[in-house]
Amino acid sequence: MAIRTIVKVGDNVLRKLSKEQKAFDKQLHILLGDMKDTLRKANGRGLAAVQIGVLKKIAVIESNGIYLELINPVIEEFEGSVYLEEGCLSIPGESYYVERPEKLTVSAFDRFGNPFRITVNGFMARVFCHEIDHMFGILYTDKSVDKLPKEAKIGRRDD
Ligand code: ZN
Repeated sequence: MAIRTIVKVGDNVLRKLSKEQKAFDKQLHILLGDMKDTLRKANGRGLAAVQIGVLKKIAVIESNGIYLELINPVIEEFEGSVYLEEGCLSIPGESYYVERPEKLTVSAFDRFGNPFRITVNGFMARVFCHEIDHMFGILYTDKSVDKLPKEAKIGRRDD
């Protein structure tokens, strides 16, 4: 396992579209291991492969004691609206409010190529959205707001 260098904002790779991961092999497992180590070392909540310069639809997420790997994730359903300050390992030292769904159902594959569906709420749903956005070259600062809407529901980091 190895700590990889996290690409920072301004690097054009962060704006590129990630491709589907086709092979569920040893190479993928090594990449996932490196991503997990890199995420933990950076004390982050999520890391998409593009953030270490690999343009594949792969993300690792660790929040509130739960570790998950998402390969080729697709958002199937979402509902609700909640605002919370968000950050990104590729944009160090900054955080802004972003609107995200409260609840999300995603289909994806595990590291062995088995399909699964997962429904997540609250902060975990936020991290899922953030990482899936990375796969489309979208940064959270593209969606952040300077001023909260009057009726905004504010989320929590530990929900
Ligand atoms: Zn990010």
